Amino acid sequence: MSQKLPAWVHPPNKTWSGPSDRPDEHDVDCTECGAKMRLRYSKKYDRYFYGCSKWPGCDGIHGAHPDGKPLGNPGNKETRSARTRAHAAFDQLWKPDSALMTRGQAYAWLEAYFDLEQGDGHIGQFDKEQCEELVAAVLTEFDIVV
Ligand SMILES: [Zn+2]
Repeated sequence: MSQKLPAWVHPPNKTWSGPSDRPDEHDVDCTECGAKMRLRYSKKYDRYFYGCSKWPGCDGIHGAHPDGKPLGNPGNKETRSARTRAHAAFDQLWKPDSALMTRGQAYAWLEAYFDLEQGDGHIGQFDKEQCEELVAAVLTEFDIVV
């Protein structure tokens, strides 16, 4: 934690908001909404990650290697569009005025439905099949039209 950080690293209070001048930032689309992601540094976790450029409107994040390469596969276009659809369906549970539950309750339901640990319900990490299952579950369990 005490290692000297490169000069381009944003101060902690600008981690999410400042423009990134990281030279080897990669082209990563948000796993949640498809917007561009920017390379960020988390002082708290002492690691790099990609954060959605739409934050705080979108809290999509994706892990990064120390050299700025994104971890794993952020998802191809097909997976991302499935995630977008899944999010749109899921958000109907808690976002509109007519919401059936709070955001916390919606995520608790999501985690129970997919048998995930508490806090592991991240649609941005779902694969295409899980996304389709989620859309179907929202429709059948809550009778919501999306
Ligand atoms: Zn996003």
